[in-house]
Formats: sequence, C-alpha cells, structure tokens
Amino acid sequence: SDVILKAEDLKKYFKIKGRKVVKAVDGVSIEVERGKTLGLVGESGCGKSTLGRTLIRIYEPTEGKITLNGKDISGKSTKRFRQDLARSIQMIFQDPYACLSPRMTVSQLISEGWGLNHAIHMSAEEKRDRVIELLETVGLNEEHANRFPHEFSGGQRQRIGIARALSMSPELIICDEPISALDVSIQAQVMNLLLKLQQDKGLSYIFIAHDLSMVRYISDTVAVMYLGSIMEYATNKELYENPQHPYTKALFSAIPVANPKIEKGRSRIKLEGEIPSPINSPKGCKFCTRCAYAKPVCFEQPPVLKECGPGHKVACHLING
Ligand code: SF4
Ligand code: MG
Repeated sequence: SDVILKAEDLKKYFKIKGRKVVKAVDGVSIEVERGKTLGLVGESGCGKSTLGRTLIRIYEPTEGKITLNGKDISGKSTKRFRQDLARSIQMIFQDPYACLSPRMTVSQLISEGWGLNHAIHMSAEEKRDRVIELLETVGLNEEHANRFPHEFSGGQRQRIGIARALSMSPELIICDEPISALDVSIQAQVMNLLLKLQQDKGLSYIFIAHDLSMVRYISDTVAVMYLGSIMEYATNKELYENPQHPYTKALFSAIPVANPKIEKGRSRIKLEGEIPSPINSPKGCKFCTRCAYAKPVCFEQPPVLKECGPGHKVACHLING
C-alpha cells in the first residue's frame, strides 16, 4: 500500500497551571493511504482535533514521529518549512465562518495563501482565473468572487473553506468536523463534494467526526479515539460489521435508528458518566471508569492496540487478554 501520512506513537501534551499536564494525544499511531480516507471518531474532548492540528504541525508534537511521503516532518518548524508543508497538507474546520476573515472577499480568501508562500509566483490575471476555476470546482461561480463571507449560507461557507484549502493543491486534507455544524439537508451535499474531489484529484483525507454514522459513508479505515488514545482501528467493513471494543459498541448504540421497530429490539449499551479529564486520565484502560466489562486488570494496565483479525486492531484486555 502507498502510505502518504504516518504517525508513530505521537504525543501532544499541554502544560497547564500548577504543573499539571493534559495528555491530549497520548501515543497515537495511524496511517493514511494515498487517495483514501481515514475516519477519526470520538466524543468531544477526546483529542481528535488536537491530533489533526499536530499532524499538520500547527502544534509541535511532544513525542513521536510524523512522516509525509516517507519524509520526517516532526522536527522543529521554520516559516519556510510551514509554507512547504501547506502545499501538501491543508485543513478545513467545523465552523468555516470563524476562520474566514469577514473583511476579505471570497476572492481574497481563496488567493491569500499564494501571496504568503515563497514558492508561488502568479500574475494577477492567473490568480483571477484560478480563483474562478476553484469556485467552480466547489460548486460556486465567478459572481461569488467579490462578495463577503457573511453573505453566504453555512454550506456555501464550507465550500469557500474547501476552495481555500484546494488553492494550495494539497495531497491531503484534514477535515475537522466539516459537516457537524451544517443543516442535515446540506451535510450530504458537502460530503458528496468531498467524495467527488477525492475521485477527481486523488486526494487523501483524514475525516474527523464525533459520531460513527458521519464517517461511514466516506472512510476506508476508521480509528476510534478516547481520551487521547486509539481504542479500535479497522477497515470500514470490519468496524461497522464487526465492532469489538466496548467503547465502539457504546458509540454505535448512541446512533439514532430511523426505524423504531429496529430500535426496540436493539440492545443499547448506555454510556454512563462523564468522560474523565485528560489531566487525570485513568491509570489502566482509559475507558475503565465507564466500561460495563471492566475487570481488575483494566484499572492497572493499559491495554495495547493489537491485531484481533485481518485489518482490525483493538485495545482491550477482554479481547486481547
Ligand atoms: Fe473495558 Fe477493560 Fe476492555 Fe478497557 S480493557 S474496554 S475497561 S474490558
Ligand atoms: Mg474538535
């Protein structure tokens, strides 16, 4: 397989007041294949956005290694390094409005990266043509170029965010909950746009979401995260047909089912209690305080993410005990 991005035992810790440490990302290893999508799922606060931001090197990793096309990108970053990286990896966000400057026109927003990058030289005319091309790529058009972000709907703003990411012709886009804030009727449109762009351009994605139903449609493999660690990592088919980890099962039972008859007969594992704080995460399995199957060893030893079948890894003493 052709791996574009790889993280090995990646950690991102934040020091906070009183010498406490938040282990936002705590030993994550993932691989993204070229032209494929890795879905990253977990409740809010599980570290998935921090992982995304560390992979794109907005954050400096505390420990671990990130390689892009086989090249180590985990070291210290210079401005030049970040500019080069921006041409390989881009990120789109949950609330595109929050990261689109309200005083810039759509055209300025889309072309901003070209002016900031040492390696890009384009004439004004080339820029204008390319902006129109990008607008058309995301389902907008020339008439939108001179308008401001507030004049657009949420779905259109996300399209502008996507055009802005595409302006650097990246190989990989980290999509951080890009549809979570949109109306249900618009979500499918943005998903379909992302799928079409992937097909047309051979893009790779990391698609971050808080529930499993959102990533099913787009992901080739899925990693389920809890308190900074990966609990289960499997091909799409394996994860959805044969989930193993108690946390994954609990997440599944939280998905609303459209047919009430199915709903009735289905056994639901309720997620009890709050997610523990990543400052004082449990010593053994991070899920032990909420797991219905926890046994003594779970409170002492962290389970290792191990293969439990072809294309399927799980971190649980119950399964790999
Ligand atoms: Fe539950 Fe133990 Fe498995 Fe953790 S290791 S998920 S606490 S059974
Ligand atoms: Mg987030």
